[in-house]
Amino acid sequence: MTARIVLASSNPGKLREFRALLAAQPQLAHLDIDSAVIDAKTAGVGDIPETGASFEENSLLKARAVARHTGLPAVADDSGLAVEVLGGAPGIFSARWAGENASDENNRRLLLAQLADIAAEHRQAAFVCVASLVIPGSSGAPAAEHTAEGRMPGSLLQAERGDGGFGYDPIFQPAGESRSAAELTMEEKNAISHRGRAFAALADRIVEALS
Ligand code: IMP
Repeated sequence: MTARIVLASSNPGKLREFRALLAAQPQLAHLDIDSAVIDAKTAGVGDIPETGASFEENSLLKARAVARHTGLPAVADDSGLAVEVLGGAPGIFSARWAGENASDENNRRLLLAQLADIAAEHRQAAFVCVASLVIPGSSGAPAAEHTAEGRMPGSLLQAERGDGGFGYDPIFQPAGESRSAAELTMEEKNAISHRGRAFAALADRIVEALS
């Protein structure tokens, strides 16, 4: 079978999550998901600079570029951490908060230092994800575009806890949890995560595009 939809990411974890989401859709039971769903690199698309000013703009610009390049429906996401007392920062700058080539650990350390004086009750934050689906049209312009936002609310800890997950997970405690996001199993995190929720909200549109 040939590819039917392209995920605008080269992150193997995101591809695995996206395939699992589609495999769980009864209407797609006839599809061989592994060959129908490929990533941008496999489709021959290089890195797409995230030049937008919002999660939605960045998500859409990635999906549009991949749909235009491949002629196939494309799905993308853009995500980050929004801290209330910082007015929503690091936001779209989450991956490079401590500098262009900062590691996840550098980013966490800087954020913890910036919030050192902020008491527990004022440390609310949320992970945010905007997922998008772009259906290519015959003239090169998109025939349809859809976006959906998912959020995982919670608060920032005073120090790191746990060694699972990635990014800011060790310093983030999801609402209603006593553990950090880095102490949850992957299944537990996916069930409540911003990314899981954003993709789930687009699932019907994606099924339509593949039917
Ligand atoms: P992107 O959507 O892959 O560009 O992710 C942007 C950045 O947001 C990541 O590099 C992480 O720093 C942060 N981030 C997004 N989602 C998560 C998450 O689920 N856990 C921890 N950090 C995250």
